Amino acid sequence: MTNQERMKLVEKAERLMDKHSMRKTPLKREIVCALMSEKGPLSQGELIQTLGTVFENVDRVSVYRNLNLLKAAGLVHEVDVNSYVCCSHECEAHPHLLFFCLKCHRHQEVKDHQKIDTLMSALGGFRFFGDNQPLFLRGICTSCAV
Ligand SMILES: [Zn+2]
Ligand SMILES: [Zn+2]
Ligand SMILES: [Zn+2]
Repeated sequence: MTNQERMKLVEKAERLMDKHSMRKTPLKREIVCALMSEKGPLSQGELIQTLGTVFENVDRVSVYRNLNLLKAAGLVHEVDVNSYVCCSHECEAHPHLLFFCLKCHRHQEVKDHQKIDTLMSALGGFRFFGDNQPLFLRGICTSCAV
């Protein structure tokens, strides 16, 4: 990663944290940066390893606590047990809808707001989750189904 790419990443991470009114700490920023630069999900162990290239000492408990804060804010999604990704929306808070393949662990977040709105209104009174609680559709993706 070039310095410029790194700067852009940090800027984006800070913008996202501002948007979610989170206290910006170096650890939180680096967690978001690490997840943003990955295509696939990272486990806590992999995340700690990546953070080790930035910080001298990475405290496991702090990483866990910050991941939970980011998850509760809707900035990070846990697509599977111990599999974290960065949210792909940069807009105002709204329900998150994600597909997750149980075989190849690829995920896709629905980015079309109209589709999200349609689904949410279709659910109507059946909705029981809070706005930052993502809705997961887990299954086998089309590439894995063949
Ligand atoms: Zn999201
Ligand atoms: Zn959005
Ligand atoms: Zn798949």
